Amino acid sequence: NKQVYDFNEGNAKMKDILGGKGANLAEMTKLGLPIPKGFTISTQACMSYLNQKEDFSEDLIQEIKSHVKSLQLATGKSFNDSTQLLLVSVRSGAKQSMPGMMDTILNLGLNDGNLSVLAEETGNWVFTLDCYRRLIQMYGNVVAGIPSHYFERCLDKVKTAKGYKNDTDLNCEDWQGIITDFKAIYYKHCQASFPQEPMQQLFGAIAAVFSSWNNERAQVYRELNDIPDNLGTAVNIQEMVYGNTGNQSGTGVAFTRNPSTGENGLFGEYLINAQGEDVVAGVRTPASIDKLATDLPQCYEDLVRLSDLLEKHYCDMQDIEFTIENGKLFILQTRNGKRTAKAAFNIAVSLVNEGLISKEQALMQIEAKSVDQVLHPTFSAEALGAAKLLTDEGLPASPGAASGRVYFDAATAQEKAQAGEKVILLRQETSPEDINGMVVSQAIVTSRGGMTSHAAVVARGMGCCCVVGCSDLEIDEVAELARMNSQTLHAGDYISVDGTEAKIYAGQIAMVPSTGQEAFHTIMDWAREKAKLDVRMNAESKSDIRMGLSFNPAGIGLVRTEHMFFAPERLREMRRFIFSKNAYDQDAALKRILNYQLEDFKTIYEEMQDRPVVIRLLDPPLHEFLPHNNQEISQLAKQLHLTISQLENRMDELAEVNPMLGHRGCRLAISYPNLYKMQAEAIIKSAIIMKEKGLRVKPEIMIPLVGIKEELTSIRAEIVAHIEALLIENKTYIDYSVGAMLEIPRACFIADDLAESADFFSFGTNDLTQLTYGFSRDDAGKFINEYVNRKVLKLDPFQTLDEVGVGKLIEIAVNKARQAKPEMKLGVCGELGGDPRSIAFFHKIGLDYVSCSPFRVPIAQLAAAQAAI
Ligand code: ADP
Ligand code: MG
Ligand code: MG
Repeated sequence: NKQVYDFNEGNAKMKDILGGKGANLAEMTKLGLPIPKGFTISTQACMSYLNQKEDFSEDLIQEIKSHVKSLQLATGKSFNDSTQLLLVSVRSGAKQSMPGMMDTILNLGLNDGNLSVLAEETGNWVFTLDCYRRLIQMYGNVVAGIPSHYFERCLDKVKTAKGYKNDTDLNCEDWQGIITDFKAIYYKHCQASFPQEPMQQLFGAIAAVFSSWNNERAQVYRELNDIPDNLGTAVNIQEMVYGNTGNQSGTGVAFTRNPSTGENGLFGEYLINAQGEDVVAGVRTPASIDKLATDLPQCYEDLVRLSDLLEKHYCDMQDIEFTIENGKLFILQTRNGKRTAKAAFNIAVSLVNEGLISKEQALMQIEAKSVDQVLHPTFSAEALGAAKLLTDEGLPASPGAASGRVYFDAATAQEKAQAGEKVILLRQETSPEDINGMVVSQAIVTSRGGMTSHAAVVARGMGCCCVVGCSDLEIDEVAELARMNSQTLHAGDYISVDGTEAKIYAGQIAMVPSTGQEAFHTIMDWAREKAKLDVRMNAESKSDIRMGLSFNPAGIGLVRTEHMFFAPERLREMRRFIFSKNAYDQDAALKRILNYQLEDFKTIYEEMQDRPVVIRLLDPPLHEFLPHNNQEISQLAKQLHLTISQLENRMDELAEVNPMLGHRGCRLAISYPNLYKMQAEAIIKSAIIMKEKGLRVKPEIMIPLVGIKEELTSIRAEIVAHIEALLIENKTYIDYSVGAMLEIPRACFIADDLAESADFFSFGTNDLTQLTYGFSRDDAGKFINEYVNRKVLKLDPFQTLDEVGVGKLIEIAVNKARQAKPEMKLGVCGELGGDPRSIAFFHKIGLDYVSCSPFRVPIAQLAAAQAAI
């Protein structure tokens, strides 16, 4: 079985085998683009190497050797030629792009003996020596594991001694000295000389790239991005082209559209006379790509043409790496560019408008999870006016706004974030080692680096607000302080970062929610068009409903009536009801509550107009409404004309050992039938009032926590009788329905029986998960992370539906319900109604709607559309 593929043997579809980079290099070779020649060692070869205790099989060795031979033939160069020297890069490339996570080695093949060949060939000793020291540095770091700062410090020393500003200032003699020092560093760490034999270098490099699949930062990245551990990385061996031969050469990164905003047009950065990662690593400050048009006009023109071609070919925004060697442009990589959520929306809509992709493709291009990023809160304009601006010198690397405490290293940021602080990582620049600190940060700020620096790319990928290259920010990472225009910041100080405007402010600034821009609304319109599942919202307050309505939900899937009982005057009536000594007192209290509820429901109907509304009758145990401390108790005793001991006796009666499994939900209505009757009356009376105003209100009354058929039949009968009497009395008709919330496993098994007494079901996934696992939702937080970390559980079932367990129960119930009543409306409310993966499952089993918190409605709408495409 084949383990090595020449670039002209593969194509873009072979990402599983060739990795993303290799597959695209092959595709571009096929398209006839200027790609340096090379071959790719497959991901399977990597996995077998790792599984064979990191050993090359004889087959693989032979296959690699024979491809090296072909490469020598194809290029007319060789590792041991006296006129045409072959040097290669060894580049990792997994199936999914893992920026900065894996390692790359350039200029491989150089040694003491063949330096002069390259120098002669190019007529450039400075360049040749620069290549060699880079090789020792990269090889030393990646293969021998020597921390790169040993090399950097040595280089810095020479630069300082000679008063040089940039690496490009060094002359032959300087480089020769550095090479001697680098070799000494290498020897000191490895107790062996830097390997001279090109094939030995090659296999050393391949082994290191294979092994880098399991390095810590790669593992962290996979964990974060749900990438399986058993894919492996491919290795690309590619003829070198040189961006560091002088002022007619350079290297850069270009996006076909702005990855931050989505704006169409080439966007990127480059460095003249530089190699490899110089741009990303922030060695010198790169120039904006527009400037290439004057520096090297022909190359610029070629780049524009080729990037356009690539974008049209891949039908998506491309992130392109290029190198210019003596005025000739080479493409070294292309991939679908990472982008902010805001850019993702703009690009998807533009690509549809430009006729490059269909609406369906556009919808699939946007990650549902990322939707809330475009809705990220922004600083309130008022608070911003009063805020003190520290700097606006930086670059807007990733949009968003955040306040937090600054820390100067990843480990501290991580520690403080775990302790519950909102943290902002402040660094000169970031590197892959900082990943743990970056993921927990509200914002990332660097003093160096450009729009394609590590910090910028990773932050955009994570949707984390980020400002880079704040040149007037002076950071002392060791002393843990930063100076910004005469203001000194210490670890733990608050700052606020606006990643959209690239502005940094002192202190904390209040936030307001945002409702998205034009492209967002276009995408959402398309999503609702394509989705089969309706998306409703869980809301009861006027402000939440208004906010949610801006996302055009299909209705309300859950009004939690208990949320309406906590305002002081209502709580008082609720307590009057709970502590009433006789039926008369009880009714009086309920009547007053009824009046409050009438107003509540009128407001909801008014906002929702003719969209359906599910109102859940009272759910929590009554003791949630009790006073909490002695002061409240004595106050309440006075109000209710009770003695403190009378009050306390009643409180003792209501206390429960295990309230989650206690006297709550419809169990309350068995003990206090008037409670639900009162609520039903308020629901219907307010509907009648609205009807008189010309609104067609359709209340859906939901009975919670049903587990027994007789619970449902008896409660439903009482409610319906009460409502019918009301309707007759008012000589009117309201299109109401009465259904059950299914959240007890038993209810799922008897869903067909329950269906006889229910017009609809809504699955309450929180309680259903809690009761299926026997995990108390309020306590599981203490151990569930441990379960996930130790892989006892793959995912937290309260965040993503457990399809095989909880999902199975829902599926059983859906099938039974549909058997009994084919047209029955079935939905989901609860946290999982807003989770994209869970939504895909709900779509599959044929639910009618999901309902989630207002802010998650667009996420759910997009996920529902994606499930349907
Ligand atoms: P990463 O996955 O981290 O981007 P790459 O394999 O793309 O790593 O290599 C990083 C950089 O090294 C490239 O962007 C390019 O500038 C340089 N590079 C890689 N291969 C070559 C080559 N054959 N010739 C010249 N430069 C190369
Ligand atoms: Mg890299
Ligand atoms: Mg790259």
